[in-house]
Amino acid sequence: MRFSKIKDNDIANGLGITMSFWTQGCPHHCKGCFNKETWDYNGGKEFTKDDLEYIIANINKNNIKRDLSILGGEPLCIQNVKGVIELCKEFKSYYPNKKIYLWTGYTLENFNDIQKEVLKYIDILIDGKFEEENKNLSIMLRGSSNQRVIDVKKTLREENIALHEVC
Ligand code: SF4
Repeated sequence: MRFSKIKDNDIANGLGITMSFWTQGCPHHCKGCFNKETWDYNGGKEFTKDDLEYIIANINKNNIKRDLSILGGEPLCIQNVKGVIELCKEFKSYYPNKKIYLWTGYTLENFNDIQKEVLKYIDILIDGKFEEENKNLSIMLRGSSNQRVIDVKKTLREENIALHEVC
């Protein structure tokens, strides 16, 4: 897996403070994408054990309680999905009570079997491509109104898509 950047303190991509992790590489090429530098699969840098350890070691740095946000690029494309699952699995083994937010351009109903694996570890899924014609910067956690904020645990429990109540 390659990644674009890690931001220690982010207040724009979560409900509260998060450490945010941007994967590198995206197959969707949404019109109006605000993050085109993450499209190139060869851009960014390789995610190493040191990067994983950095996240684990610094998520509570300076006594700030952060959750983890995973954005892109596309975290669930074939090039990134296994690395993202490993990251989520490892993170939750240390911090089972912290939330993981994940943004994807795929829609949950169309996840393949590997992509579904990530649902075991994440809490909030924001799904769907960015649609310029539905752009809306006043809605929480999303860039366009077609995207959904999904409560993953409730969705798995009820076997039916449950939108997050705050959003
Ligand atoms: S999924 Fe995200 S990063 Fe990829 S093209 Fe769409 S808006 Fe850009």
